[in-house]
Amino acid sequence: MIYDVVVVGGGPAGATAAEDLARQGHKVAMLDRAGRIKPCGGAIPPRAVQDFDIPDSQLVARINTARMISPTGRSVDIPVENGYVGMVDREDFDEFLRLRAKKAGAHRYTGTFLRIDREDGTKVIYRDKVSRNELELECKLIIGADGARSDVARAEVPGGDTIPYVIAYHEIVEAPEPTANYDPTRCDVIYDGKVSPDFYGWVFPHGKSASIGMGTGIDGVDLKACTKLLREQAGLTECTTIRKEGAPIPLKPLDKWDNGRDVLLAGDAAGVVAPSSGEGIYYAMEGGRQAARAVMACLASGRVKDLGQARKVYMKQHGTVFRVLGAMQDAYYKSDERRERFVSLCHDVDVQRLTFEAYMNKKLVRARPMAHMKIGIKNLAHLWRLVPEAYT
Ligand SMILES: Cc1cc2nc3c(=O)[nH]c(=O)nc-3n(C[C@H](O)[C@H](O)[C@H](O)COP(=O)(O)OP(=O)(O)OC[C@H]3O[C@@H](n4cnc5c(N)ncnc54)[C@H](O)[C@@H]3O)c2cc1C
Repeated sequence: MIYDVVVVGGGPAGATAAEDLARQGHKVAMLDRAGRIKPCGGAIPPRAVQDFDIPDSQLVARINTARMISPTGRSVDIPVENGYVGMVDREDFDEFLRLRAKKAGAHRYTGTFLRIDREDGTKVIYRDKVSRNELELECKLIIGADGARSDVARAEVPGGDTIPYVIAYHEIVEAPEPTANYDPTRCDVIYDGKVSPDFYGWVFPHGKSASIGMGTGIDGVDLKACTKLLREQAGLTECTTIRKEGAPIPLKPLDKWDNGRDVLLAGDAAGVVAPSSGEGIYYAMEGGRQAARAVMACLASGRVKDLGQARKVYMKQHGTVFRVLGAMQDAYYKSDERRERFVSLCHDVDVQRLTFEAYMNKKLVRARPMAHMKIGIKNLAHLWRLVPEAYT
């Protein structure tokens, strides 16, 4: 059989692309190597739940407060208004997405992508997980959704081998009983140079477990020592550790997501994770959806340039949020003094509304132009140190 599309990777990006394509009646193969739970905090916004029909059964916790903690230990609790942040366990969530794609009609293969062979038709060559043989899937187009450090991106798309990364590391622990320090409905975000010199640390509750971790793009930082400190600060040292794991988070969308021929990237493989927060699940699913639309357009028209629609549409929708978050990371994640000022800024109700609206609904609200101006001025005032830290 010649597939219309082979999707390499069955994470949020690949499974969404495979499902959307199958629902539209296309012949789709979804190849995933399986066998490893994706290291991830698992926080998803309501927009993801709505747009991708995530059932309640996948949400292991609902978060109603975000606590921002500064280097000196001051904290600001930001209520999650009009909704909640959902928590998914990637072990179950990814499999749920893959099964949904299969039910929609995608053919599922388990094995490791090796290369694309174009000698006699276009073929994805992979090593089958069970037989260990090299097998092939013939197809017209390929979606590379094989995550950060994508083999498809490295081999096929310029820049795919040089995407900048933050390395994120976390420890999954058995959740303690609620205490003054630990609330199963609250996410803690820790801005402290000792926990992360250039990103942040977190405590994310997951029902019976919790994810405690941090990220950094700086070589040589001892991730385990930083997480140990974070656990001490959070009073979570005594909790039983279930797993320890780390993985890269890409920090910049690639300039091109297709190879001008037959391959299109989606999700982490295309470098698409929100700066500042490292949020990638919603953006990967959205990337998978746009990739599916672009390959459908290409299959219908026969024009390879239609593959470029995926990036164009995506960046039109999300480019501004990425730019704002990128500028925020550049401005505030550089020193403890700036982190202290950033947490101070979070006291402002307009800042809270703006950032949460951007996170929850993936929109920068335009309704209150004066608030934007006020935030802009406060932002500058904080960076230029016109506002004393005691302002809060
Ligand atoms: C520690 C950590 C915490 C995070 N926390 C959050 C969070 O709380 N919220 C959030 O939104 N985002 C978070 N992220 C980011 C998020 O996990 C990713 O952005 C998201 O998983 C990207 O989805 P994807 O489908 O593009 O890639 P992935 O989820 O990485 O899926 C790629 C798939 O491809 C398969 N694959 C890889 N290579 C091959 C191959 N050679 N052959 C066959 N199959 C292959 C893998 O098995 C995998 O299933 C976190 C990331 C890390 C590392």
